[in-house]
Amino acid sequence: MAGNYKNANSFALKYAFYISLTATAVLSIVFFFAALSAYWVLAVFFILLFAIAFLSLRAGVENYVLRLIKNVYKEVSLLEGIRFTGNSVNTDLESLTADIEKFARGKKIEIESLKVQEEYRKDFLGNVAHEMKTPLFTIQGYILTLLDGAMDDKKIRKKYLERTNKAVDRLLYIVKDLDTITRLESGMQQVVKQPMDVIELIQSVFEMLEMKAEKKNIALIFDRPYPHPIEVMADYEKIEHVLVNLIENSIKYGHQNGTTEVSVEDLVKDKVIVRVTDNGDGISREHLPRLFERFYRVDKSGSRKEGGSGLGLSIVKHIVEAHGERIYVESEPDVGSEFSFTLQKIEKTESKSTSELKTANPA
Ligand code: ADP
Repeated sequence: MAGNYKNANSFALKYAFYISLTATAVLSIVFFFAALSAYWVLAVFFILLFAIAFLSLRAGVENYVLRLIKNVYKEVSLLEGIRFTGNSVNTDLESLTADIEKFARGKKIEIESLKVQEEYRKDFLGNVAHEMKTPLFTIQGYILTLLDGAMDDKKIRKKYLERTNKAVDRLLYIVKDLDTITRLESGMQQVVKQPMDVIELIQSVFEMLEMKAEKKNIALIFDRPYPHPIEVMADYEKIEHVLVNLIENSIKYGHQNGTTEVSVEDLVKDKVIVRVTDNGDGISREHLPRLFERFYRVDKSGSRKEGGSGLGLSIVKHIVEAHGERIYVESEPDVGSEFSFTLQKIEKTESKSTSELKTANPA
């Protein structure tokens, strides 16, 4: 066994010495009274006894300690299926202490992270339940009122059914966003980066949200003309999701007759930054650090005039970070907000080959 018996050795040495010394002292007294003067016998006796005592003590201690330590290792390994340092169980208490400390540190970190996860899980479930409760109670309220007789009045019936439908829409938002966030977090939805023209994407999102913007007479514009494509490496559908969320928010929290302006600028050599700027409600400084958290809302009152699931920005952040990019926010109440995120730009030579590729394969 390749064990390190440093401590067993010193223990055996010390006690073998005491035993041999005591026995030799007793024998010396006997010799003294017996008037014997064979001192060499005493010396041989001391050496022999010391050797025997040392060997027996060491073997005993090793067996005893080893048995105890083996049990400790077995218990802990059984718990965890872990392996300690080295291949053999050893009786060196320093190494054993180091092993156990290492194990305890690992366990502490694991316990901390489990606690955080548990907190998060509780919060998440609590939030989900809370978010679902409001529309469900609304739906229940309208249905009960209709059943109580309101359905006989054609006008009220239509009004209540429309409101019920709106609450169902809200439930659908929540469930859809929950599904998206779960997929993103579990890694089920992988980011597939491909060359794409970000200007064309922004244009198509403008068209998609045109009607919503018109309702508040909000202009969706670029900060300047973009006559040429700007090629980036990104997941088209996911970045579309990001832009839809940010531009939709700029409309939701934008003022009547306002403007949402989008710009794309070079940031560093291989990065562009896309900015979505509005001149709407704005957000006060204290909310900014928590804005991207799940379910975080600035206006927590039930009387919110606007609002989706409260998961929108959290999904946006997930997507941007899954691309290995960053998202930023700057905002001032009643002045407006600017949400910006970076994207990986394709170098000129690559960009050429992409457009060539597109022409060759228009699909
Ligand atoms: P919601 O579904 O409530 O819109 P989001 O995660 O998209 O949730 O946004 C979180 C909160 O951030 C919103 O409730 C809103 O208060 C605030 N917010 C987001 N975008 C803007 C914006 N462009 N202007 C002002 N406030 C915004």
